[in-house]
Amino acid sequence: MALINYLMMKDIEQKLKKEAKALFEQSKVDYIIGFEPGSLKFTTTPLITRDKHDVDRLVINSFTVNNLANFLTEIKGRVGIVAKGCDSRSIVSLIQDNKVARENVVIMGVPCTGIIDLSKVEKLTGKDRDKLDDMNRERDKVIVTVDSKTSEFSITEVLFDNCLGCELPTPQEHDILLGESTSPVADNSVSQEKIDQLKSVTQEQRWDFWKNEFSRCIRCYACRNVCPACFCERCFVEETEPQWLMPLPRWQDNLMFQVIRNIHVAGRCTDCGECERACPVNIPLRSLTKEMYDIVGELFHFKAGMDKGAAPLMTHYEQEEIEGVFR
Ligand code: SF4
Ligand code: SF4
Ligand code: SF4
Repeated sequence: MALINYLMMKDIEQKLKKEAKALFEQSKVDYIIGFEPGSLKFTTTPLITRDKHDVDRLVINSFTVNNLANFLTEIKGRVGIVAKGCDSRSIVSLIQDNKVARENVVIMGVPCTGIIDLSKVEKLTGKDRDKLDDMNRERDKVIVTVDSKTSEFSITEVLFDNCLGCELPTPQEHDILLGESTSPVADNSVSQEKIDQLKSVTQEQRWDFWKNEFSRCIRCYACRNVCPACFCERCFVEETEPQWLMPLPRWQDNLMFQVIRNIHVAGRCTDCGECERACPVNIPLRSLTKEMYDIVGELFHFKAGMDKGAAPLMTHYEQEEIEGVFR
């Protein structure tokens, strides 16, 4: 069975290489953005290239963490981009905001089966990732080999929380779909556990929790820099007139940074999980971003990146919404 999953991934990877090469040969794109093997075990790294020979380095596996949509606003020209479900929605969101022109992007959609969170595997096995010998996905299980011994874990134990709660793993917007559609994880309760736990405590306890968490923030801005929804050329944190935040990482300013960032990405965040993954001090940022994602859904019946023709959230209103507001 592990072999079946491996062959499925390899099949998608072969199709990707073929399609990417064809895009270069037919001069349909100037760049390809995808993933290549990382320098460490069980990792990948973004590959951005203009050279058709580099296409052979492209990989698709259970470790393609990055949301590559983040690079689209940096690159001038026509781009062929590898996109998982959440990434494709980020691309659509950028199109809605006029940050990316649809005609300049060829979306090579990867039906996604979820990304393995290595920190969860480390906790379960009690071993650092570089001590793990092998790791394979087999439908709803992940098989890990350490010191010639294999252990099986359910995907609910080892996928990233956002992948366990992913609603649309198959890219909705694509030009090329590299495999058959995939379905969301059947039991998504684990994805909400941390968030629900935090919602079940008193306001005072929640305040203390975030005060403690943001006391550890070093204001490295990794969470902002990996986020495709954080596309401002000049972020409010760099403004000096007025100065919204003190440059020193005091917890109050750190908390305010995240509160304002969450408001800015409301209606653009696709719950890709990149901000939480990138945080070097493991602040559970998804407990803020997913809550905002849900609030946007409840209040405005809006999900980010679903319709490239739709106006971005809070940039338009319906006639009935303004009755009684403007006179
Ligand atoms: S959030 Fe969905 S589409 Fe994105 S990596 Fe996870 S499972 Fe794949
Ligand atoms: S990534 Fe983490 S440490 Fe860095 S600014 Fe964001 S919350 Fe703070
Ligand atoms: S706020 Fe976080 S989860 Fe949302 S789109 Fe940005 S990186 Fe992804």
